[in-house]
Amino acid sequence: MNNYFVILAAGKSKRFHKKIAKQFYNYKNKEIIDHSITKSLNSKLFKKILIVANNLNHLKRKKYPKTINIIKGGKERSDSSLIALKYLQKYKPRNVFIHDAARPNFSIKLLKKISKSLKKNKAVVPITFSKDSIKYKIKDQIFNLNKNSLLLTQTPQAFRFKDLYNLAINEKNKVSDEATLFINNNIKIKFITGENKNNKITYFNDVETSKTYFGIGFDIHKLIKNKSLYLGGVKIPFHSGLKGHSDGDVILHAIIDAILGATSKKDIGTYFPNTKKFKNIRSPKMLKPIIENLYKSNFFINNLDINLICEQPKVSKYRNKIINSISSLTTLNTDQINLKGKTVEKLGLIGKEKAIACEVIISITKYD
Ligand code: ZN
Repeated sequence: MNNYFVILAAGKSKRFHKKIAKQFYNYKNKEIIDHSITKSLNSKLFKKILIVANNLNHLKRKKYPKTINIIKGGKERSDSSLIALKYLQKYKPRNVFIHDAARPNFSIKLLKKISKSLKKNKAVVPITFSKDSIKYKIKDQIFNLNKNSLLLTQTPQAFRFKDLYNLAINEKNKVSDEATLFINNNIKIKFITGENKNNKITYFNDVETSKTYFGIGFDIHKLIKNKSLYLGGVKIPFHSGLKGHSDGDVILHAIIDAILGATSKKDIGTYFPNTKKFKNIRSPKMLKPIIENLYKSNFFINNLDINLICEQPKVSKYRNKIINSISSLTTLNTDQINLKGKTVEKLGLIGKEKAIACEVIISITKYD
């Protein structure tokens, strides 16, 4: 094993963000560059990993293992690549992998595939095909290109060190990747299937991920005679119903409060005060505008977990009905809704069937 891994991280990433250096942006729990470092280390394929960057102070503050060297890069990508090759010469590498830090999503499997292929080839480059149709413009004329004959070259690209070194020091022009050197000099490259997920992060919205929030809701209503019992929008035969300005549906009220909690929108009383307007309102009518607003703001519910706290009625008997009702009110699938029944060992008001309580936790995600 005489492989060396070069990570090019000296780019200014102007298209990414005015102030943030792309390679050090936090993405999937670590800096973009650290994904490449961790994977190259874990692959155990490399004697040394060489980072070429311009922000050396930032990197030197981090505690990397000894197999990692950090050097200063050049102005353009091809300058940094050449600086790396000159630096590595003293180690007499057999193979060198060149990789852009802006591609954090390659797999270790791909590294191994490249390494294997390099035993028989001088240059191995992973490629993918364009998902978009491509047109080509010359002056005012537009031509169609057959996208299946277009190869999109990715990194890591791997080469016999000597060959790449000789091509790189003799190249006068700035090249956008090492494969270009081989192609310009008519030297055969072995193209292997790359990974679609191994996209180059270029724009800030390439790394913007969705955000998930949680909300909690709680409600309790007194049970009184001569009122219908509604739970989760379902009318349930029972000796009493829930007292309240509305129909007293503790499940739907707790769901509303959980949603308002997750979106930082105060509480149910803010939207449905005890005024004449809402006297005897059915709770599905209260939930409806709350759900509509939630979806309008690009939030999606991941799941609802509900504890219904009562001695009677038995939740197991009505579970499916209640879940189906909540499913149609929220447009959630039934497997996103869980309903648990909890008795209180006949203790207190709930134990004496004088009240029913409910607590709900919700997880929601916002997409842009
Ligand atoms: Zn209530």
